[in-house]
Amino acid sequence: MVDIGKFVNDIENFLRERVYPREPVWLAKPFVEIEHELFSLRREVKARGWWAPYLPIASGGSGLALLDYARVSEVLGTTPYGHYVFHCQAPDVGNIEVLLSHGTDEQRATFLEPLVKGLTRSCFAMTEPEHAGSNPTWLSTEAVREGDSYVLNGHKWFTTGADGAAFAIVMAVTDPAAAPHLRASQILVPTDAEGFERVRNLPVMGAPEAGWPSHSEVRLTNCRVPLGNRIGDEGAGFRIAQERLGPGRIHHCMRWVGIMQRAIELTAKRAHYRETAPGEKLADKQAIVHLLADSQADYLSSRLLVLDAATQIDKSGMHAAREAISLIKFVVAQALGRVLDRAIQVHGALGMLDETPLAYWYRHERAARIYDGADEVHKNVVGKAVLRSAVGRP
Ligand SMILES: Cc1cc2nc3c(=O)[nH]c(=O)nc-3n(C[C@H](O)[C@H](O)[C@H](O)COP(=O)(O)OP(=O)(O)OC[C@H]3O[C@@H](n4cnc5c(N)ncnc54)[C@H](O)[C@@H]3O)c2cc1C
Repeated sequence: MVDIGKFVNDIENFLRERVYPREPVWLAKPFVEIEHELFSLRREVKARGWWAPYLPIASGGSGLALLDYARVSEVLGTTPYGHYVFHCQAPDVGNIEVLLSHGTDEQRATFLEPLVKGLTRSCFAMTEPEHAGSNPTWLSTEAVREGDSYVLNGHKWFTTGADGAAFAIVMAVTDPAAAPHLRASQILVPTDAEGFERVRNLPVMGAPEAGWPSHSEVRLTNCRVPLGNRIGDEGAGFRIAQERLGPGRIHHCMRWVGIMQRAIELTAKRAHYRETAPGEKLADKQAIVHLLADSQADYLSSRLLVLDAATQIDKSGMHAAREAISLIKFVVAQALGRVLDRAIQVHGALGMLDETPLAYWYRHERAARIYDGADEVHKNVVGKAVLRSAVGRP
């Protein structure tokens, strides 16, 4: 049984001593140039028994309940490198969870085991440039049976982490005549399979990234994989995707709460030490104190909502908590944007530089309101639930 208070304390100390001081150096370099340093920290994390704490104990993790993992993930989120160093990074976590729940023995041996150990990386290719990602039943990528193989043809983009990944989980239509939610399947495609082409890394808010933080355009051309690479039943792709997205969304929210916490700490320190005139601190200005109060309100209200959603999931399961998950997805993503904007404002020009993580987060986390369901899509879920519960009451 993990002493969660001690665990959170220990990893916070580790991050403050070993990771925060390196941030200004790492933020100035492409990810692939700092990866060797991160690998050495990953080895240390493994040796201390902190590796992938969300995993069940039987799979090498700490078997944490979601509520406890929320506290761990918040601390990891205080630095852009926390989740990667502790092997808690998207999209690998989602792929690990899918393979743990639905993988065959052979799929686990080939794809899951090296991924869990951190020897490989993976990616998830669902979204297509030609269709609205907000309607994931609308896909053109097809996987056609030929003998004992599937032959895949299609076009994907925003496949996070494809550059350097060993395999992709590809959403592809296996039965175009079926009902929309039964058309597609999830299929494991090694990235070195003939016909799997990483066309380019996309320039997302700046120059394209390489390696784990990359987002790629991918083309599949007559790409052949064994039928045994399908995850779960044929046509179960959307059901499995929904199972994946629930935990994925709350994991993002936990990380964003951590980002807010750090952004506020950085802002408060800057306000305390920065003088606007000799002996006159930024923190003496009421306008700045009020910005901090607004950010603290955003942070603490987000945190409580996330912990409440995690409690609901632990008690009643992902399906029962789907409205709570939709609610936090847009509330926390929007709060995050406001907190980062205020933090940069208080830092002035320094906030625009990659000498604190603020500019990095400002660039990377604008997407929080788009990926894993845009704000509007989640508001539809919450608003309709409000209508359902109100209508019919006396
Ligand atoms: C940084 C990043 C990483 C990503 N990583 C991955 C990945 O690893 N794998 C993957 O498959 N995909 C990934 N995606 C894609 C992501 O899932 C899609 O961008 C998302 O589902 C939205 O789809 P879209 O971009 O096609 O927007 P569209 O569906 O075209 O929607 C555009 C906008 O229209 C509005 N809108 C949409 N639907 C509605 C509605 N019903 N009601 C009202 N308004 C609506 C919203 O404002 C929305 O932002 C990533 C995206 C980003 C930005």
